[in-house]
Amino acid sequence: MIMRAATPSREQRRGVIDRYREFLPVSEATPVVSLGEGNTPLIPCARLSEKVGRGCQVFVKYEGLNPTGSFKDRGMTVALSKALERGAQAVVCASTGNTSASAAAYAARACIRCAVILPAGKIASGKLVQAYVYGAKVVPIEGNFDAALRVVRELGRRPEFTIVNSINPDRIAGQKSAAFEIVDELGDAPDLHLLPVGNAGNITAYWRAYREYHNAAIARNLPVMLGFQAAGSAPIFHDKVVENPETVASAIRIGNPASWQSAKEAIHDSKGEIDIVTDEEILEAQQWLASNEGIFVEPASAASIAGLFKCCDERAAYPFKELQPESRIVCTVTGHGLKDPEAVRFTRGTSVQPLEADVLRAIGF
Ligand SMILES: *Cc1c(COP(=O)(O)O)cnc(C)c1O
Repeated sequence: MIMRAATPSREQRRGVIDRYREFLPVSEATPVVSLGEGNTPLIPCARLSEKVGRGCQVFVKYEGLNPTGSFKDRGMTVALSKALERGAQAVVCASTGNTSASAAAYAARACIRCAVILPAGKIASGKLVQAYVYGAKVVPIEGNFDAALRVVRELGRRPEFTIVNSINPDRIAGQKSAAFEIVDELGDAPDLHLLPVGNAGNITAYWRAYREYHNAAIARNLPVMLGFQAAGSAPIFHDKVVENPETVASAIRIGNPASWQSAKEAIHDSKGEIDIVTDEEILEAQQWLASNEGIFVEPASAASIAGLFKCCDERAAYPFKELQPESRIVCTVTGHGLKDPEAVRFTRGTSVQPLEADVLRAIGF
């Protein structure tokens, strides 16, 4: 019997462009620069669901499993592919760490030069290592992310540089793929979607994707979008630029988000909210998710989980008073925990003799 190779299914195809090209600004002429990004697990979380109660089902979209450890790869595959198509010589970005890691990797793959402008001394160690090992030109600046983005906007006026921050619409387009995957897997959009908000590109991309799938009648539902900023870095929540944003969650330490307006639209149109979570709540949620569900994420990513806990808190009036029982809830966790090992508090065990009795005592059994 002759076995004929079947047309690969959407899941079998590798990479965001390959799987979702009809929803992306690419054509046959676009050279695809990919590392097999996307198709990350949507993990059903029994303990989280139990904590929320009301028969709700909570899923975590684990974006730390992308090739460079964050969702930035979804946008970067499109940004670098389009840059290559247009004949770009170099890409440039400002970054709190993950954009630079991703840009550096995809630029290496595209054989394009890459410059990354970073706030000096403010980048988590795992992310900084990535920018160097992928061969980017790393320029630390005396200033925060917002200052770095200002310089990058100036550099972008020169013909030799393509900006690959989320002000580049190709980035947002690629990042839509996470929401497409969620609908493809659940059979519809969830009722509630929670995610961390920094520069606000991701919440913009998710909402755009949910609407596109809704318009194409692939999804019947549209979710309520809840975005969470860190309390010390919450310009959208306060409706005011934050000059010196501070938070342990370095990936969302942004005082003047580039996609501010479109994030507000997503919140408004979905009847959602922007809220804040404290550093203490973020670190507790990070620890809780790792030790209860086996999912290790960086601090910024835990903002969505901290936000869910805040929603479940009886004292918070929103949005649970409106949340229907049996709702499906998705929390996006944006980056891998190994990106920022210094953020984790733990006590190292002291060494003992290699004797059963000593080891048993140390375990405490
Ligand atoms: C970039 C990033 C964010 C913030 O996403 P925005 O699109 O800027 O709102 C959150 N978490 C992680 C891990 C990130 O890398």
